[in-house]
Amino acid sequence: MDGLVPRPRAVPTKRLLALGFGLILCFCSICASILWEMAQKDFQHAKDGATNLVASISSEIERNIELYDLSLQAVADGVKLPEINRISPELRQVVLFDRAATAKDLGSILVLDPAGNVTEDSRTLIPRSANFADRDFFQIHRVRPDIGLFISPPWVTSEGEYLISLSRRISNDDGSFAGVVAGSMRLSYFHNLFRKLNFGPKDSITLFNTDGTMIMRAPFQIERIGQSIRESQAFRQFPAKTAGSYTSRSVVDGITRLYVYQQIGHHPLLLAEGVALDAIYADWWQQLWSIGLVVTALCAFSIVLMFYLLGAVKRRAVAEAQLARLASTDALTGLANRRRLDATLATEWRRGRRAKAPVSLLMIDVDHFKAFNDTHGHQAGDEVLATLAQCIAACTKRATDLGARYGGEEFSVLLPGINVSGASELAERIRERLTAARQTQRELPTVSIGLACMTPTAGQTSRDLVAAADLALYEAKRAGRDRVIVSSAEQTAPAARRAA
Ligand code: GH3
Ligand code: MG
Ligand code: MG
Repeated sequence: MDGLVPRPRAVPTKRLLALGFGLILCFCSICASILWEMAQKDFQHAKDGATNLVASISSEIERNIELYDLSLQAVADGVKLPEINRISPELRQVVLFDRAATAKDLGSILVLDPAGNVTEDSRTLIPRSANFADRDFFQIHRVRPDIGLFISPPWVTSEGEYLISLSRRISNDDGSFAGVVAGSMRLSYFHNLFRKLNFGPKDSITLFNTDGTMIMRAPFQIERIGQSIRESQAFRQFPAKTAGSYTSRSVVDGITRLYVYQQIGHHPLLLAEGVALDAIYADWWQQLWSIGLVVTALCAFSIVLMFYLLGAVKRRAVAEAQLARLASTDALTGLANRRRLDATLATEWRRGRRAKAPVSLLMIDVDHFKAFNDTHGHQAGDEVLATLAQCIAACTKRATDLGARYGGEEFSVLLPGINVSGASELAERIRERLTAARQTQRELPTVSIGLACMTPTAGQTSRDLVAAADLALYEAKRAGRDRVIVSSAEQTAPAARRAA
């Protein structure tokens, strides 16, 4: 018999949680993308640095090789002059060999005849008697006129000095093989060059021949000189790409690095710098940790705050519902108050009109209550009202029935969808309950009940129903009280309104 009982406002918990977690996810995604960009920038910065370093060292090496090559070409051209054998050995030395070729880290330049015998030596007037016909540089120039400058793999002298040979073919005017001019360059030149560079402890710089032979590497390891590193990823790109970069695990020491390589001029040499990924991302990892901690703390705080606010919203909804319930309940009897009765009556009247269903109303009034109060006091009177309310509540079990305190010692029972006979049965039950209650509560007044039942039609209002029930109640009073009188208002509603 609750009528329009206010329920707690439904809180869209799932939607609010989805919204909250969605916002947190967005925030985390933004942080992750910022971190990703920072990592990309660090990587690009390291790549740019390595590219610049490789370019500047390459041009330094290229310039020196170029100069030495010019000296070799000058010798190759000079030995073909017809006059060269007619001048004195001293003058021949001056004509053939310039002083640039005597620079530190450069070895002597030898001229070999087509049989491989030494005919000229830049360091001495009387050349040593030696034959280099079996050497790789001699063999290659003999069969490949197009080879240009040949740079040999590293080799070690009897004094334990590491060198590479640089050589050029001497051709006759008809293109036939006329011998070789060969010089050498100490690997200490590259060693000293690399030593001057300032790079991280896990970084590396490597010079290798395009056939994969390692010529020099920093950090320096003598046993690596001359080793083949053909499986290095650089050779998957070279010669299609003469300069490039890749990230790979070193075949030499197993450290994962970003490698930037470049061919030195058009010579068969590649220079590669490797920057350890650990070093590239060292600062980034620190930032990741600090930003990650702040983001985690913020997310945890947001989640706690979210659940707290959700709890507060739920508590507020329950409190609002309780407040609404209190505002629609009569404090003394616990039945619905007049406000709820009016609202429910208006709703049920409209519903009855739509469904063409009857609406019944009982008006219940305590007989001679003023006298009762005067005799037994108002507290006893309040108990009577509470007992009557219990009887009404016990008889109105259906969800749509509504027992209410109309005002003072008058009560109403709204019975939507109940016809006259059902309503008078219920009215009698209320009187019977009151009679039964009299067994335990001896001083209990009787009640008079006026009953009206109407099927709402156009031109009628719920006020007509109340007026009809009220008229019936007064009839019950006039007829001697302690009884139920049924109104004939269904047919005489306008008359009832006139009487009211
Ligand atoms: P009748 O049989 O004709 O209804 O006589 P009555 O005395 O019951 O009617 P009347 O309207 O003269 O008196 C109603 C009394 O109800 C007056 C008032 O003291 C009493 N009353 C109204 N509200 C309360 C209440 O909340 N508590 C108590 N104890 N008495 C109330
Ligand atoms: Mg009264
Ligand atoms: Mg009364």
